[in-house]
Amino acid sequence: KLYNQVQDLKGSIRVYCRVRPFLSGQSSYLSTVDHIEDGNITINTPSKHGKGHKSFTFNKVFGQSATQAEVFSDMQPLIRSVLDGYNVCIFAYGQTGSGKTYTMVGPKDLTEKNQGVNYRALGDLFILAEQRKDTFRYDVAVQMIEIYNEQVRDLLVSDGSNKRLGIRNSSQTGLNVPDASLMPVSTTSDVIDLMNLGQRNRAVGATALNDRSSRSHSCLTVHVQGRDLTSGTILHGCMHLVDLAGSERVDKSEVTGDRLKEAQHINKSLSALGDVIASLAQKNPHVPYRNSKLTQLLQDSLGGQAKTLMFVHISPEPDALGETISTLKFAERVA
Ligand code: ADP
Ligand code: MG
Repeated sequence: KLYNQVQDLKGSIRVYCRVRPFLSGQSSYLSTVDHIEDGNITINTPSKHGKGHKSFTFNKVFGQSATQAEVFSDMQPLIRSVLDGYNVCIFAYGQTGSGKTYTMVGPKDLTEKNQGVNYRALGDLFILAEQRKDTFRYDVAVQMIEIYNEQVRDLLVSDGSNKRLGIRNSSQTGLNVPDASLMPVSTTSDVIDLMNLGQRNRAVGATALNDRSSRSHSCLTVHVQGRDLTSGTILHGCMHLVDLAGSERVDKSEVTGDRLKEAQHINKSLSALGDVIASLAQKNPHVPYRNSKLTQLLQDSLGGQAKTLMFVHISPEPDALGETISTLKFAERVA
C-alpha cells in the first residue's frame, strides 16, 4: 500500500506492460518471455552465439495469466481521479495482435467477465459518483473518435457521415474536438450501446481498406463535470482511453501507395507520442506537442497535473521477438 503511494509521488507518468497468452493452437514452450518478477521482465534473446537475455523495468508487468479484473483493479485509482478533476490518458501500445484491443475493449465474444478497461472504467465511475451523490453531482459524457492518416473522424455518428473534424485547444472544458458527438451516459447499458455504435463505425472503414482498425488510433474520451453541492464549485475531469495503431515497422521496400502512406503516418504519430512523453518524463521545458494530430488532441491531458499511463503489449511468440524488443525499448524510453 505504502509502496503504491510512493510510486504515485514519483511522477505522473506510469508504464505498464502486459504479455498476451499464446492463442489456442500455438504451443507455449518457446515463449520469448523468460521470467517476470515485480516490475521486471526478462526476454530470451537467443543468437547464433547461444543464449541471451534482456531485462526491462516498468511500474508493473502483467503476465499471460493476468485477468481483465486484475488489470483493471491496478488502474482503478488512476481512473477514479477523473472524478476529482484530474485529466488522465491511458494508451495501449504494441504491434498488431499483441492484445491492445483486448485490454481496452475485450475479445470479440464479449462477456461481463472479459470486458476491458473502457467498460469497467465507466461502470466504476458511475458507482463512485453514486456513492458521492450527497456531496457531488456528476455529469458524464463521452466522445469517440478515430485518427486515420492524420485525419480525425467521429465514431459516434448514426448516419455513417464521414466528415473530417478539427482540433481546438480548450483546456477549460477539455472539449478539443468540439464537432464530434458528445453523448451523455449514466448507465452501463448506455455505454454498451455507444461502444457498439463506435465499433460498428470503425468496421465501416474496414471494408474499404481491410482491417483498418490496426492502422488507426481510436480514442474514447470521458468528460466529467462535477458540482460540489455545498460550495457550488464546478470541476472538470477528462479521461482519454486510446487504442493506438499497431506499432510494427513496415518494410518500405514491400509496400507502396496507400499502405506506405498509412505506415508513414503511424510511424510519425507514434514517434511524436514517444517524444512528448519522454520530454515530460525528463521534465524537459520544451514539449513537442505540435508534431502529430494525436499529441495535439491530447495536449491538455499530457503534462501539467495530468496523469499518463503508457500500457505496452507484447506477444510471446519467437516470431515477434524483434517487435517485442522494440516495444520494450519504446516503453523504457518513456518510463
Ligand atoms: P491488437 O488490438 O493489439 O491487434 P487484439 O487485442 O486484437 O490485438 O488481440 C489479438 C488476439 O489475441 C485476439 O484474438 C484477442 O482476443 C487475443 N488476446 C489478446 N490478449 C489476450 C489476453 N490477455 N487473453 C486472452 N486472449 C487475448
Ligand atoms: Mg486492435
